[in-house]
Amino acid sequence: MERQTLNELVDEIAQEFPDFKLVKKADSKFMKVLDVLLRIITFNQMKTFMTNFTTTIGDTVYTNTEWEKRSEVSRIVTLRHERVHMRQKNRYTSFGFSFLYLFFPFPIGLAYFRKKFEMEAYEESIRSLVFYHSLSVVQASRTRANFVKHFTSAQYFWMWPFKKSVERWYDGVVKELEDADPS
Ligand SMILES: [Zn+2]
Repeated sequence: MERQTLNELVDEIAQEFPDFKLVKKADSKFMKVLDVLLRIITFNQMKTFMTNFTTTIGDTVYTNTEWEKRSEVSRIVTLRHERVHMRQKNRYTSFGFSFLYLFFPFPIGLAYFRKKFEMEAYEESIRSLVFYHSLSVVQASRTRANFVKHFTSAQYFWMWPFKKSVERWYDGVVKELEDADPS
């Protein structure tokens, strides 16, 4: 992994994905509609879609309202995560990726492919955190709990109910990084 600045990363992503662009969620009617829909289908448990979440559709990354205030490294970690989804979309085609991500085998509760895609993308987030910060950041139990919660809560429409298996996945990724750590 190469330590890049945010601008270098943006350039690199734009080379790999010529249609790549960053759009503010607040400027997008579509995202505003999605926000309302998400509140309805999650019984208002997903209230932070506009403020806390970055959403990628196709090669457009929609940034949350806090984006500009976040540190450069935190934005880099997020963009590296989103780039994994853009690659998955190319691997499975747009339709295939969206269908599997949203609906297969179930849209809620047991969304196997959403879990699989997010595990790949969050693994990149964890690796980037270690690379740009330190191993101790991802070893912290608060970080672990945060990552695990993405999978089991309304944040991703309760994509996977088996908390233990998500914890095992997380610990496995961290273990690999610990083993690779020279210190
Ligand atoms: Zn993701």
